[in-house]
Amino acid sequence: MKTALITGITGQDGSFLAEFLLDRGYKVYGFTRRESWIRPNNSSHLADRITVLFGDMSEGIDIANALQEAKPDEIYNLASQSRPGESWSRSAETLIINGLGAIRLFEAVRHGLPKARIYHASSSEMFGHAEVIPQNENTAFQPLNPYAAAKVYAHQMARICRDSYGMFISSGILFNHESERRPLHFVTQKIAYGAACASLGIVNSRDRNERGQPIVANGKLALGNLEVARDWGHASDFVRAMWVMLQQEKPGDFVVGTGQLHTLRDLCHVAYGRVGLDWKDHVISDPALVRPLETGQTLADPSKARKVLNWEPAISFEEMVGKMVDAQLERLSRRAGRDE
Ligand code: NAP
Repeated sequence: MKTALITGITGQDGSFLAEFLLDRGYKVYGFTRRESWIRPNNSSHLADRITVLFGDMSEGIDIANALQEAKPDEIYNLASQSRPGESWSRSAETLIINGLGAIRLFEAVRHGLPKARIYHASSSEMFGHAEVIPQNENTAFQPLNPYAAAKVYAHQMARICRDSYGMFISSGILFNHESERRPLHFVTQKIAYGAACASLGIVNSRDRNERGQPIVANGKLALGNLEVARDWGHASDFVRAMWVMLQQEKPGDFVVGTGQLHTLRDLCHVAYGRVGLDWKDHVISDPALVRPLETGQTLADPSKARKVLNWEPAISFEEMVGKMVDAQLERLSRRAGRDE
């Protein structure tokens, strides 16, 4: 039986990956902060099937202890301060978790478990203001926010450790992937939530945005720049790519994305269309929500992942958005039932 250690087990990807590995007979350890685990989280339903090790990515000793305890064959480093927008106000913390946390992990593996294979979560945000569209493994990085800058640092260190020490570290340059498990502060989930509220006739939502205001206020969902375009896929497809990377003979960097571009406008169209509504009646664009420096047009060229990993996404953009809206409808309906 193979053993895997997943950092960021409470996150979206951590939960899908844990399910994926358990289905393949792995013994799964999850690394998480104690206070995150005792709250309901994306992996709460797996509590009886995985072993949880408490620690913080900012503490090298926690990482070393977890490695010692789990002795994993495969390590999936997914932990991160993963909100690019928030990284502006938390830039030092973002570097500590996303950048230095990764280095601490690589170092601990090098000294304690040199044969273990590592998947490291890099990000398409690293391309930032890319001059080349679409982007592949050789495209230059032009990070535009503290999150992306920290990811570039960790990505380069992963390559340096691989080349210098012969470590098996594969980095997935993953493009945006969403799911029913995305937190509400991500714009995709806000749109799914907004569509569900509109369908249920909720004019002022109970859930609030980062500014403390209802996400849906006076029947409207406020968003930033609707022309922002991204390459969006479903998280369950993307965790499969992570695993396949660690089954290869050699480590490397892999761009993983659908190769299809959609705007927030498209996302609104599909989400509100799912509940038979016209998004234009329910969504407004608020200049206060536009990011200081918006990441440019990031679009994956996943040719290498297709060829080497034989990876293709199975869930379409429309299916992904549909799943998210359905989940929000169910959640809000359940809550309404409880409140009666
Ligand atoms: P997520 O849902 O935000 O999960 C991040 C995880 O990191 C959470 O479990 C979080 O735990 C944990 N974490 C944060 N700070 C930590 C710390 N100091 N010590 C230990 N754990 C800590 O993110 P995701 O969407 O699953 O993404 C997984 C990885 O892929 C991340 O590295 C992300 O940056 C990267 N990525 C994601 C996307 C995407 O579109 N989803 C695209 C490219 C790359 P708490 O519960 O304690 O917060």
